[in-house]
Amino acid sequence: MNPFRYERARDASSAVALLAQEPGGVFLAGGTNLVDHLKLGVSQPDLLVDITHLPYDRIEPLPDGGVRIGALVRNSDLAADRIIRSRYPLLVQALLAGASGQLRNLATTGGNLLQRTRCVYFQDISKPCNKRVPGSGCPAQEGYHRELAILGASEACIATHPSDMAVALVALDAPQGERAIPLTDFYRLPGEEPQRDTVLEHGELITAVDLPPLPFATRSHYRKVRDRASYAFALVSVAAALEVADGVVREVRIALGGVAPRPWRATKAEAVLRGAPATEDVFRRAAEAELADAQPLPGNAFKVPLARNVLVRTLLDLTEEEVQP
Ligand SMILES: Cc1cc2nc3c(=O)[nH]c(=O)nc-3n(C[C@H](O)[C@H](O)[C@H](O)COP(=O)(O)OP(=O)(O)OC[C@H]3O[C@@H](n4cnc5c(N)ncnc54)[C@H](O)[C@@H]3O)c2cc1C
Ligand code: SF4
Repeated sequence: MNPFRYERARDASSAVALLAQEPGGVFLAGGTNLVDHLKLGVSQPDLLVDITHLPYDRIEPLPDGGVRIGALVRNSDLAADRIIRSRYPLLVQALLAGASGQLRNLATTGGNLLQRTRCVYFQDISKPCNKRVPGSGCPAQEGYHRELAILGASEACIATHPSDMAVALVALDAPQGERAIPLTDFYRLPGEEPQRDTVLEHGELITAVDLPPLPFATRSHYRKVRDRASYAFALVSVAAALEVADGVVREVRIALGGVAPRPWRATKAEAVLRGAPATEDVFRRAAEAELADAQPLPGNAFKVPLARNVLVRTLLDLTEEEVQP
């Protein structure tokens, strides 16, 4: 591990000022991703600015009926919150499907959004990787890519985004941070610059995520398929909220995880569904519309039928809940 300086930020402005003076500095929140990267040599900062004592650990109702989640709210506390549990079940299910109980006790909302890909080459500094060392190559294309992307990838990088929570937040269209960036615009596709995961600039601090009021999200679900139940990242996941009236889809939100370099808002599937009968045939057509542009590699072609089936099953489950008294 490289030597680095450690500073504890007194307030948000001093945290931002400290990083502004130090191009090789990073914020430290729960440390569950960053500290692993320090040990592996994936991240070699000159300065750690500890933000864990800043006052962003509250979950507060907003005047418009939404909810503000402070960036330092721990994943366990968010999953246990009564308002979140009653209004946004998909978010609670996504949080509880992520990592382990001990990790969720430490992991924060901001850190969870900014955790980095689990592509094995990214985490192994003896291998080339365009995301870690721009221009060095992408061995995953010809090598091990079972967990990697089938949508939105580029020649430079085919990594998937790892956060479960972010998939639920993208389905909810949550704006985030002081510059209020919608989460759908927050994550970048890799293109020619896979080293940049998000639109955040160096030294920008996430202070909060705002959940919009979305009454029909009370009927929502997060379904995750993974290699083992104890803890593992998603092979495919679906976050969906569905409103059906008289057998017709009135409103729907869908995001997919484990299939793309960012949480994938399924706008094509949503367009097929809005105003259409809530039937299995329509759900299947919607899933096929979303996956029509998939470009799998030999090792991850299984994700195309898997994503289709998981999406259809999730919508069917929500429809069955809808018709129950
Ligand atoms: C064994 C294991 C299994 C896991 N399984 C899953 C899983 O199944 N699903 C899942 O979603 N996650 C999983 N995780 C990841 C875990 O959820 C993340 O490590 C955690 O959410 C990161 O939060 P943190 O507060 O610890 O972030 P840190 O490690 O402290 O920080 C992560 C990054 O975010 C930056 N950062 C943190 N807060 C801010 C802020 N407020 N503003 C700007 N930048 C900030 C840091 O500088 C750093 O670059 C797993 C982790 C481990 C170790
Ligand atoms: S897929 Fe992305 S993260 Fe993985 S080796 Fe290629 S460039 Fe690196």
